[in-house]
Amino acid sequence: MPQYDFRCDACQHRFSLRFKTYAAADEAAPHCPACASGDVTRLISQVAIPRSQRDYGGLTSQEMLSVLESGDKRQVDEMVRQVGGRSPDGSAAPSPQSEDSPEPH
Ligand SMILES: [Zn+2]
Repeated sequence: MPQYDFRCDACQHRFSLRFKTYAAADEAAPHCPACASGDVTRLISQVAIPRSQRDYGGLTSQEMLSVLESGDKRQVDEMVRQVGGRSPDGSAAPSPQSEDSPEPH
């Protein structure tokens, strides 16, 4: 369940909200719980992916998006390398350019 941090631009109050889905979070228009202002900014927080795991190929597209949004370049590079370079278990990772793996229809 995704959780996002927000900061109110009106009173600088910081708060967190949980959403059922990432889509719901994207469409949400949260209001500050302190002053009820709708002028809030979503803060990018670190994504909790265990460093020992490092299996980005197993992430869902939404989780990948979270990694990208985190702005952690090392993590993003690693993910792109794993997902774009090779699929460890042959699972269908969404890749716009799959040169050597024909898609079954
Ligand atoms: Zn506020």
